[in-house]
Amino acid sequence: MNRLSVIIVGLALAALTAFYLSDEGTIDSELNQEYVYWAQIMTDNGIDISRSESLRVLNYAEMGADMAGRSNKFSNLIYVNALEKGNPMTVRAIVWHELGHYTFDLEHGECRLMDAERHTHEYYAENWRNLETEYISLLLQK
Ligand SMILES: [Zn+2]
Repeated sequence: MNRLSVIIVGLALAALTAFYLSDEGTIDSELNQEYVYWAQIMTDNGIDISRSESLRVLNYAEMGADMAGRSNKFSNLIYVNALEKGNPMTVRAIVWHELGHYTFDLEHGECRLMDAERHTHEYYAENWRNLETEYISLLLQK
């Protein structure tokens, strides 16, 4: 290998490394913990979540206060409204909601976590166990 090839290969490797590092940067670590929690519960209940493995972006984004989050199956992304940072149970509910659309094609109103309207932080905190059970039962019936 001559010197020029070595330089070119070196540059290509550097570019690839930068690409993968920037790609990893699109997964927020706090939201990833919520994903791992969700994935564990789904798997414990025998629910197939393989569709969720194609997710490339899971992050906070600026959006209007009326929006909780959004997901896109074609771009493989889920965004949570950055205004909800610091409201852990609401963030958890939004992650479950968006993963419901993304992974299982759930529609609004199929269970309370899939309601189109966001509930309050207190509501999610007080009812979490029931909300979770309802979501799992819905998936087990599909
Ligand atoms: Zn929705």
